[in-house]
Amino acid sequence: MKLRPILLSLSVAALLSGCQNMDSNGLLASGAEAFQAYTLSDAQVKELSDKSCAELDSKASIAPGSSEYAKRLSKISSALGDNINGMPVNYKVYVTKDVNAFAMANGCIRVYSGLMDMMNDNEVEAVIGHEMGHVALGHVKKGMQVALGTNAARVAAASAGGVIGSLSQSQLGDLGEKLVNAQFSQRQESEADDYSYDLLRKRGINPIGLATSFEKLAKAEEGRQSSMLDDHPASAERAQHIRDRMAADGLK
Ligand SMILES: [Zn+2]
Repeated sequence: MKLRPILLSLSVAALLSGCQNMDSNGLLASGAEAFQAYTLSDAQVKELSDKSCAELDSKASIAPGSSEYAKRLSKISSALGDNINGMPVNYKVYVTKDVNAFAMANGCIRVYSGLMDMMNDNEVEAVIGHEMGHVALGHVKKGMQVALGTNAARVAAASAGGVIGSLSQSQLGDLGEKLVNAQFSQRQESEADDYSYDLLRKRGINPIGLATSFEKLAKAEEGRQSSMLDDHPASAERAQHIRDRMAADGLK
């Protein structure tokens, strides 16, 4: 499934707010069947993530290690640490105007240059921490199971080679795109926010970047007429939650 143009244009507001609406084809409905059909093991999730990430990398324009983007991300990533719950992570910058970032269950973390242009280091750290939270809290694994419930993947899953071996390159690409644009619930978004807050505190990073990144996104949302975002928790409310936690912790 190709991303629809409208989804790309919404990516600013969609970031961190349930990201993008992937349910246009009833994916969630068919995903429910897939849940019953099989459950992915952690090893399968990792293997699928490896392949999906490699497929997305092959199609992306990756900032070279010598670029300003890569150097900046390297500094940011060393502040955040090199693992999610002990699993090693690897970072790359995709050069694109889209404002997005994602993390997969194999430690693949990709940050879009459009996001880095919009946000300061502290805010990028907060956003990555949030994406790490979706991995650490199992949201991404759940999303992968749902994404695998789509028709193409289900046909493949039913074939002789088993789930993973039977996926074509384009199906892996589809899966990757669905993971990148996964729709998380409001509760999962809040949990990922809190995860990021705790991670930033643990790493000695001021969590204010979480609040200000939401506030930037809220500003970007203001100019939009779309009501598609109505069911997402408002960025402004999420920023306030972070400021409340900071006040409770005696931080400014
Ligand atoms: Zn999120």
